[in-house]
Amino acid sequence: MARKREALSTQFSCLFCNHESCVTVELRKKEAVGSLRCKICDQRFDTNITYLSAAIDVYSDWIDACDAVARTDGNSQLQKATIGHTRDDGDDEDDEDDF
Ligand SMILES: [Zn+2]
Repeated sequence: MARKREALSTQFSCLFCNHESCVTVELRKKEAVGSLRCKICDQRFDTNITYLSAAIDVYSDWIDACDAVARTDGNSQLQKATIGHTRDDGDDEDDEDDF
């Protein structure tokens, strides 16, 4: 029942193929870009980051982006419940911080 916080990890479960530890996050802070890639199904995602950002923030952005797409499309094939995304995010992190 361990929480999937993985604060120091840069490997996460994939929303698309549902494999664990197949999604790697690269933080390019000099470019203010975070890149995420699944080595199983080759999903990719880029997002803006700040110097405060961690891999989990890129992963969270990916979840939000996928969620938004799913909502827009009106289908629910993205089963975010399967990755244990049940805790409230953002309590201890300020995503509003600008550059
Ligand atoms: Zn995948």
